[in-house]
Amino acid sequence: MFVIYGNKKLRIKRYSYNQYCCPKCNAFDFDIKIYKRYFHLFFIPFWPAGEKSSTMFCNNCRYPIRVEDIQWKLEDQTRLPFYLYSGLILAGGLVIVSFVNSARADKRHRLFVESPKAGDVYRITGEKDGRDTYYFLRVSRIESDSVFVWHNHVEYNRFVSEFNDKDYFVQSDEVAFTRQRLLKMLDDDQISDVVRDYDPDSPFNDVE
Ligand SMILES: [Zn+2]
Repeated sequence: MFVIYGNKKLRIKRYSYNQYCCPKCNAFDFDIKIYKRYFHLFFIPFWPAGEKSSTMFCNNCRYPIRVEDIQWKLEDQTRLPFYLYSGLILAGGLVIVSFVNSARADKRHRLFVESPKAGDVYRITGEKDGRDTYYFLRVSRIESDSVFVWHNHVEYNRFVSEFNDKDYFVQSDEVAFTRQRLLKMLDDDQISDVVRDYDPDSPFNDVE
């Protein structure tokens, strides 16, 4: 991906200063502007960089001057605007949102496994010959503590969230789990997803 980044200088404050006499025109009318550099990514400010800087001009004759003690003091007292951290705030927000979403999904998965319904599909991460395998189980029926499931036809050697079009659940391949066993599989992350109320056109409805 083409990444645009760099740093830019931004005026963060402008002061009028009238306690200093212009050596050129004797006016007491100065403008002091405070600047700060910031690092940007795709032009979104991420964080401030380096020291603040400032310029001082006579408003009457435009004479530029440098008066360290005045400028340093004003640079020092000028607070950085929070939008210089926009990118960081945004990134932090996204982390929180994804954390909350994942906590919600975990809670939903647990509810589904605790009270299974025919048609629920579990995405399973298993292991075969020391390698991760991925497959699906679909709840076919529930009898008291036993949850009967159909295994799908294909085992995947990479993570998939959906069936491929040629895949289907095999009715003759029915096995039973206790609810407790399923919850243990959920806790061990063997069940990585539980899908319920999926689309009627979903391949998860293909059973042979
Ligand atoms: Zn002047």
